[in-house]
Amino acid sequence: MTTGYSFFHLAAQALGWGGATEPVFGVARAKPRYDVVVVGGGGHGLATAYYLAKEHGVTDVAVLEKGWLGGGNTGRNTTIVRADYLLPGNRDFFGHALTMWSGLSRELNFNVMFSPRGYLDLAHSDGQLDHFIRRANGLKLRGIEARVVDIETLRRLEPALAIGAEPPVPVLGGLVQDGAGTARHDAVAWGYARAAHRLGVDIVQNCEVTGFKLGGNRIAGVETSHGVIETDTVVVSTAGHSSVLAAMAGLSLPIETYAVQAFVSEPLKPILHRVTNMNIGFAYASQTDKGEIVMGGNLEPLASYAQRGSVVRIGEVASKLVHILPFLSRVRMMRAWGGIADIAADGSAIVGPTPVGGFYLNAGWGYSGFKATPAAGWCMAHTVATGKPHPLIEPFALDRFVSGALLDEGGTGPYTWLH
Ligand SMILES: Cc1cc2nc3c(=O)[nH]c(=O)nc-3n(C[C@H](O)[C@H](O)[C@H](O)COP(=O)(O)OP(=O)(O)OC[C@H]3O[C@@H](n4cnc5c(N)ncnc54)[C@H](O)[C@@H]3O)c2cc1C
Repeated sequence: MTTGYSFFHLAAQALGWGGATEPVFGVARAKPRYDVVVVGGGGHGLATAYYLAKEHGVTDVAVLEKGWLGGGNTGRNTTIVRADYLLPGNRDFFGHALTMWSGLSRELNFNVMFSPRGYLDLAHSDGQLDHFIRRANGLKLRGIEARVVDIETLRRLEPALAIGAEPPVPVLGGLVQDGAGTARHDAVAWGYARAAHRLGVDIVQNCEVTGFKLGGNRIAGVETSHGVIETDTVVVSTAGHSSVLAAMAGLSLPIETYAVQAFVSEPLKPILHRVTNMNIGFAYASQTDKGEIVMGGNLEPLASYAQRGSVVRIGEVASKLVHILPFLSRVRMMRAWGGIADIAADGSAIVGPTPVGGFYLNAGWGYSGFKATPAAGWCMAHTVATGKPHPLIEPFALDRFVSGALLDEGGTGPYTWLH
């Protein structure tokens, strides 16, 4: 896979022999008018712009980002990509997303380092094991790979795990998805940005959206820190700030926002193959290509827009993980960081048109939206270009909170977190 520059090209540039370097993405200022304005330069917004241009020929598009590309949750997540959901709406959407990940580097001609190293969800009770059997069967019926394994198989798959059926943290088996794994989060933003820019999309960083111009009950323009931009179509893809942006268009969303944290150890030799998740509370770990162990857990307990958390949650996650990975107690932690997740009332995403004409929403992905990136962009582009929600996102419609067709994934099993 190539990123477009050879070693010799870079060396020539460094020595000043190569002429002007091609800008990878972006323009300094937005034009006064666009057919479509996408708010938010994270993976979702950039993917939407890319597929609008690539699949639908809609190239008069601007992506407005108040900071830098991928500086929101796209660059703050723990990079897990999986498709192990039970409810049909989530199952089919994320199943499609996983198939898109495997071809994404080729699609963008940019190495997003998708690494299908496998995902392992541990069962700590008979109830959880039963639930995983149901989940794996549901997935397989839809052609999505997953299997339930017993403890002997787990020991073979992950020899570093200290597991047994005894308290205080019994492990009775697990759900394995071999084609799941991780991808390099920044590369996803950069890859989509470069590919969209090459198709004619304007990407404007340091441009904050401060309001919307409405004409009747329709979008007429976007107010920004660079001035007003005329448009009749806006896609809001601002993750933890979804409800802030929606309020600017007069919409109140069934969403609350929470900080989520992650932290990472010093690099170690390869020891943990799969992304491994514990279901006593919520704590997970995976090992990066550099050798660091990346760890994360539940949301911070109180709603907030602060992109930071407390040491309490870090301590709680670490104290769970040392039960199955005892070596962690002797490993130094290097960094911790936080992002903000928008959690819808039923824990599933809110994607599609809204009661305000021309105002589309891509929100509510909580702390599970990185894996959704290619499919969310793909489906949103289809929805904007055709004026009809893509079938894969119909279950994510905002009006489910009126009709009652909720998608309560967190309520389907023994999980203790909103998912
Ligand atoms: C610690 C943590 C761990 C996570 N782990 C995982 C994981 O392992 N797997 C997974 O699938 N998901 C995970 N997630 C969730 C995932 O990161 C998000 O769901 C996903 O990145 C959302 O992408 P996005 O493009 O919608 O949002 P973002 O990347 O947040 O992009 C939104 C952008 O909008 C911009 N913006 C906001 N307001 C404005 C404005 N007024 N004007 C202009 N721009 C604006 C922001 O600056 C931001 O760059 C995790 C999240 C966190 C915080």
